[in-house]
Amino acid sequence: MPVETITHDVLILGSGIAGLRAAVEIKRQYGEKVDVGIISKLQLMRSHSVSAEGGTAAVLYPQEGDSYALHAWDTIKGSDFLADQEAVWNFVKQMPEEIFLLDHWGLPWNRRPDGRINQRPFGGHSFPRATFAADKTGFYEMQTLYNKLLQYEGWERYDEWFATNIAMENKEYKGLFALNLRDGKLYLFRSKALIIATGGAGRLFNFTTYAHTVTGDGYAMAFRAGMALKDNEFFQFHPTGLVPNGILITEGARGEGGYLLNNKGERFMKKYAPNYMELAPRDVVSRSMWTEILEGRGFVHEQSGLEYILLDLRHIGEDRLNERLPAVREIAIRYIGVDPAEEPIPVRPAAHYSMGGINSNMYSMALDAEGKWIKGVWVAGEAGCMSVHGANRLGTNSTAECLVTGKMSGFLAGKYVLEGAKLPEMPSEDRIKAEEKWIYDEMLKKESGESLYTVRNELRETMGKNFYIYRNEEDMKKGLSKILELRKRMENIYPFDKSRIYNTDLIAAIETQNLLDTALVVAKGALARQESRGAHFRLDFPKRDDENWLKHTIAVRYGEDDVQLTYTPVEVTTWKPVERKY
Ligand SMILES: Cc1cc2nc3c(=O)[nH]c(=O)nc-3n(C[C@H](O)[C@H](O)[C@H](O)COP(=O)(O)OP(=O)(O)OC[C@H]3O[C@@H](n4cnc5c(N)ncnc54)[C@H](O)[C@@H]3O)c2cc1C
Repeated sequence: MPVETITHDVLILGSGIAGLRAAVEIKRQYGEKVDVGIISKLQLMRSHSVSAEGGTAAVLYPQEGDSYALHAWDTIKGSDFLADQEAVWNFVKQMPEEIFLLDHWGLPWNRRPDGRINQRPFGGHSFPRATFAADKTGFYEMQTLYNKLLQYEGWERYDEWFATNIAMENKEYKGLFALNLRDGKLYLFRSKALIIATGGAGRLFNFTTYAHTVTGDGYAMAFRAGMALKDNEFFQFHPTGLVPNGILITEGARGEGGYLLNNKGERFMKKYAPNYMELAPRDVVSRSMWTEILEGRGFVHEQSGLEYILLDLRHIGEDRLNERLPAVREIAIRYIGVDPAEEPIPVRPAAHYSMGGINSNMYSMALDAEGKWIKGVWVAGEAGCMSVHGANRLGTNSTAECLVTGKMSGFLAGKYVLEGAKLPEMPSEDRIKAEEKWIYDEMLKKESGESLYTVRNELRETMGKNFYIYRNEEDMKKGLSKILELRKRMENIYPFDKSRIYNTDLIAAIETQNLLDTALVVAKGALARQESRGAHFRLDFPKRDDENWLKHTIAVRYGEDDVQLTYTPVEVTTWKPVERKY
């Protein structure tokens, strides 16, 4: 039976902050002239963005000393000079308007006593520019965007539809395959334009702040389709994941004055970042914590055996904790029975953010390995890499990037449609059959084999062991060979559930494949990069090496199990790289 098709002018894959912001922009610019479909493997408001906590960066108070130049400089220095500087300038300049738009659309930002929008300090920012709504910023951003979108007609949502692959032939975008989870039927979505906004890949690791659903699907689909990925070896470890479960304790907690303490009761950050202390960028703080732990100045969690450091918020006081950090307090009390108003809480670095992503430029256009636009395709949010975060993202710059790239991709994709873009041809019959075969025969039908969950767990253990805060060649080689072994074993997995209706086993199998594809790219890029920069720290190459490595990694699939790496220059237009000191 031929595959059923669904057609829209613009297809948005993902309904997090980036996807929703793109949809709102299309509707507010072009109204019903451009018809939109939004696909999400989750219920729309369950997208991971709802859990963003601490804030969104923007320059709101130049009269008090902040400026675009300062935000750009902080971002570029934070990136360990791997950010593309024009992309950063463009990004910081667009942000204030985003904050004010959200304000007009009803977002309840925290306020100063005089009624103006409040901001707080955040790691690596030399001015308090984290705009926040308590510690539930992402939730309010999502709610505001969704509420705004409801004012418009001419868009349709596909909640709980799981995209399996992007159909690309001859390097051209042809459509998107997705399963309707309600009946397990495969559909082909066709559109003149596609915006990929699938978020990150935190679940590559066991100890992570990310939801179970964040499995690198967009990266893997792009990789399998022959698109290019950029800088994926740079994975951020957030200093304060709650022990033992990894739930995020926002950097806003340190922004409000929280201290990090070792087992001697010392604020050890004075050794590593005397000026910024706990508010140094995340790569610096995470490495400092890990050094303390490795040198025996950490604590050990009795039940899990995990080592940790203490985060002390007691001096902030109950009233301020309730006003500024209510979720942090609630999370600590509910999950580990510790009230931060009375006791310090145990934290350790947790996998948090993918600095790399699908290769894109400052206009959110998806680029191939040669830097050519893949016609009709844009990328927004954490799925993309337009290179504003470089080797290390500053906190609050991600939701900001989601807003900017969402707006830009929506604006440009809508314009593209109205300027006469044509619907791409159908993918070939062979391509459609191959997709059906992969899902129904290779993934679903197998009656015996290995549990996919064993493969998934081993992958996460490997990533945590071999590609964590401190890396070296020997460990990474071991990690890569394990990833290759797991990729082979993946051919032999089988889902226990054979039904078609809400088959979460089948989805977990595809997500595991997606994690394995993403892991391969991370590992290959990390092994090849013989230097330390931002979040990629190698004990065998502990220095940054601008002469040889001031360049972006571009990864493209090569055969079944290999990755071809090429490199492109970093755009250095305003500031030459200097040593990073905090
Ligand atoms: C706990 C936590 C707190 C954070 N706090 C902050 C903060 O305070 N400030 C900040 O700037 N950043 C923060 N970040 C980072 C930031 O939240 C994320 O980078 C950002 O929200 C990502 O948004 P997104 O729209 O790109 O993707 P997401 O919100 O992850 O959305 C991805 C969308 O893609 C869909 N999708 C994915 N794969 C498929 C598929 N195969 N088929 C169909 N749909 C699919 C999902 O259903 C979802 O709708 C935080 C991150 C974490 C983990």
